[in-house]
Amino acid sequence: MMVVDQISKHFKLFSLREITFKVSQGDYFMLLGPSGSGKSLLLQIIAGLVKPDGGRILFNGIDIAKSPAGKRNVGILFQDLALFPHISVFDNIAYPLKLRKYSSFAVKQRVVELAEQFSISHILNQGVTSLSGGEKQRVALARTLAFNPPILLLDEPLSAIDSQLHLDLGVLLRSINRAGTTIIHVTHNYQEAISLASKVGVLHNGQLVQVGEPVEVFQNPRSEFVANFTGAKN
Ligand code: ADP
Ligand code: MG
Repeated sequence: MMVVDQISKHFKLFSLREITFKVSQGDYFMLLGPSGSGKSLLLQIIAGLVKPDGGRILFNGIDIAKSPAGKRNVGILFQDLALFPHISVFDNIAYPLKLRKYSSFAVKQRVVELAEQFSISHILNQGVTSLSGGEKQRVALARTLAFNPPILLLDEPLSAIDSQLHLDLGVLLRSINRAGTTIIHVTHNYQEAISLASKVGVLHNGQLVQVGEPVEVFQNPRSEFVANFTGAKN
């Protein structure tokens, strides 16, 4: 479904080096790596928010590495959520639909449907600043999924909420994945991968050092770094 092929990006002090991996329809692909390993940068390149210096991103066989973000059919949930603070929950979720010229009837129908799915119907008319962390997360996720992107990119979706909400959100993400949305999820916490991922990749200093099924990567780490990072040595 998606092939990331030798994607590179060079800054003065950091480089992503020829990142290559494949994501199949229905995968829950988790990219693991410590802070500063290039996870957010790689997601932004896939979403079209940062231009790579080289490489291709094939989406159903077509190179989208140079196509604009709005044309990529990729939804991204940012690490800081990036909700619009001055408009209501309803308008936050409606935003990507209005951008895509949905009729106001279709916008309303879709927002109401998402609100039910994410248990946020009761707060649709509120502003977003007064919401709890878990509510903000669900609103942001609803907004990201509003236009039904076939691929969902998640940047550390579990790190901003307290641990009792992890389980709820984990269950929600898995059900979204089971319902057919392919997911690429980045995190610095390998434990998230154990319950969610169908495939994992490990990033270290801008390089993808190992890719495989979680059991395979955790049981047969190919380097000292992977062994340490995935807790295989603890
Ligand atoms: P992670 O999400 O894994 O913590 P990031 O992808 O945010 O890491 O960042 C990886 C590295 O890339 C960092 O050293 C960061 O400073 C650098 N970086 C990211 N974006 C830019 C940019 N626009 N200009 C210069 N350096 C950048
Ligand atoms: Mg990051």
